[in-house]
Amino acid sequence: MRSPWHSLAGGPPESRLLASVAEFTHHRDIDALDHSLVLSLAELISVSSVTLCKRGESLQLPVDSIVVCSRNAAGAFVVEALDPSRDGDPIDTIVCAMETLEAISDVTEDGTCRLVIPIQRDHAAIGALMLESEDSLDGVRNMVEGYARIYGNYIALLNESERDKLTGLYNRRSFEQRLQRLLKLQRQRARAAAKGEDERRLPFEADVSQIWLAILDIDHFKRINDTYGHVYGDEVILMLAQQMRHSFRQSDVLFRFGGEEFVMLIAAQDERVAHMALDRFRHFVAEHAFPQVGHVTVSIGYARITENDYPEIVLDRADKALYFAKENGRNSVHGYEALTERGELGAAVALGSIDLF
Ligand code: GH3
Ligand code: MG
Ligand code: MG
Repeated sequence: MRSPWHSLAGGPPESRLLASVAEFTHHRDIDALDHSLVLSLAELISVSSVTLCKRGESLQLPVDSIVVCSRNAAGAFVVEALDPSRDGDPIDTIVCAMETLEAISDVTEDGTCRLVIPIQRDHAAIGALMLESEDSLDGVRNMVEGYARIYGNYIALLNESERDKLTGLYNRRSFEQRLQRLLKLQRQRARAAAKGEDERRLPFEADVSQIWLAILDIDHFKRINDTYGHVYGDEVILMLAQQMRHSFRQSDVLFRFGGEEFVMLIAAQDERVAHMALDRFRHFVAEHAFPQVGHVTVSIGYARITENDYPEIVLDRADKALYFAKENGRNSVHGYEALTERGELGAAVALGSIDLF
């Protein structure tokens, strides 16, 4: 069989290879990186398709994103994102490679040569690359494994830059991108539900249809710092973040926005459910005795967010609800929409405590 290397045109493979790696690793945005990885590989090896499947942080789906580069009718490479909820072959083969951490090389019933390489991070698969070709892929296996390793390292770096150092939660810098991803997942879910597909395979539980943006601020935190010192203050922030991770669902997205201020994107069926989840957490914190510091309370404001909203406007709404909580006894949860309906947020409400810009 002919090796795919034979179809390489232009300079020596090493320089093309380096140019290809440099091309895909110049991206800082994960979606652009994924897109560029499959295109770079497809162009370099000239196979019929390259697929990148990734496991998300949510464990509800074996795969939570699929990007494929293949040829269109005119023979040009095109990259598209596929619905991650699909199953059957080849997804089953990819999941098998991810679970066993072993490469799979086989030939499908129609004679297509297929190579699946798991992408590893800390001895677990974060995804897999699949190449399909009319020719044998044996000669490129080592190179694709190298690509998978570079990609795994690079994703780890990007993920680190999205995280807050003290708490490990997402940082404020990653807010916009995470929000867009969550809204995209929600759109996929709505589309699949409209087509009558099985919702159990989708990233959220079936009852999750809306997203709520909540801002949490620790009450009288200055007093904690002043009384016990910053080290204990930081310890409270860290423990609170751990409790948040524990208390909210995996599909909810948690950020440390600044000092003792957190933002949460909560997926919930309606306002009542979102309010309950937030108030349960507020109650949990109030009941907890922190080492040395004792009892600490939090105030939370939230507002609904849809894909048509400007995030800054919704942040400002949630902040107004938070300000209301602070002005009305603290240790409470308030929703912007409910407050507005009750006429509690007059035009005179001052801008809240969060400096948005
Ligand atoms: P309020 O109930 O109105 O929120 O009162 P507060 O004292 O918590 O006031 P505010 O939220 O405005 O101020 C928070 C203080 O938190 C200001 C700053 O001294 C402290 N702080 C901010 N970032 C950190 C941090 O990373 N670590 C520690 N230990 N303290 C911080
Ligand atoms: Mg504050
Ligand atoms: Mg505070």
